Amino acid sequence: MRNFLVAGNWKMHGDEASNRELVAGIIEGAPNAENVSLLVCPPYPYLASVADQLQGSAVELGAQNVAEHESGAYTGEVAPAMLSDVGCRYVIVGHSERRTLYGETSVQVAAKMAAALEAGLIPILCIGETLEERESGTTEKVVGEQLAAAVERNGIAAFASSVIAYEPVWAIGTGMTATPEQAQDVHRYIRSVLAEHDASVADRVQILYGGSVKGDNAAGLFGMPDIDGGLIGGASLKPADFLAIARAATEQRKQ
Ligand code: PEP
Repeated sequence: MRNFLVAGNWKMHGDEASNRELVAGIIEGAPNAENVSLLVCPPYPYLASVADQLQGSAVELGAQNVAEHESGAYTGEVAPAMLSDVGCRYVIVGHSERRTLYGETSVQVAAKMAAALEAGLIPILCIGETLEERESGTTEKVVGEQLAAAVERNGIAAFASSVIAYEPVWAIGTGMTATPEQAQDVHRYIRSVLAEHDASVADRVQILYGGSVKGDNAAGLFGMPDIDGGLIGGASLKPADFLAIARAATEQRKQ
């Protein structure tokens, strides 16, 4: 059975004081379950102070983005090794906001995944279709192409140390969650695509669902066979909301 990961993507929210409160609340209420990991991904400037606060807790630290380059003259960019250096274990790559607002292509996202792996980070590769793509019946094609770019660049073995997040763009921050069945269909498809390359890697890789996950819909999603946790945006900003989702994961793993 795969372990669960419940990851909070704080996006561009918070400040030193509110982060402190949020992290303290998460640490205090984190369910003690060895097969459910919690992860927080604050904005870059706060990574080091959140890392300090997380010391001695089981809550993991990640970043929301990373450069595809190792180091050099890339003003404004942050190298993978810098993230490791300040205590990150994970990094999100290819979030739909990066793809849509900052023009990141699947090839660039695959290069970021490569750079993250090279630095010993666990990339969380985000893939997902827009509403228009879903309505025109091209969800599998879109998700398949995003995945294929990552496999082509990094090889299937890279997925033994990576996480995938299926995030339908139409569900992110909209309150329009995919139904458990809609999400499961795509998760199953993602796993089947990977299985064509390596069945054992496909069986082991964690596939998170992201898109308006809340305390009251998490249990249904997490009950699906190919959903191994969640990437949480809005509901990761309040300890009570994030912990309700973490508890849903824990309950699922007890069954
Ligand atoms: C996200 O930002 O990855 C996300 C899923 O956001 P939300 O939970 O707010 O939909």
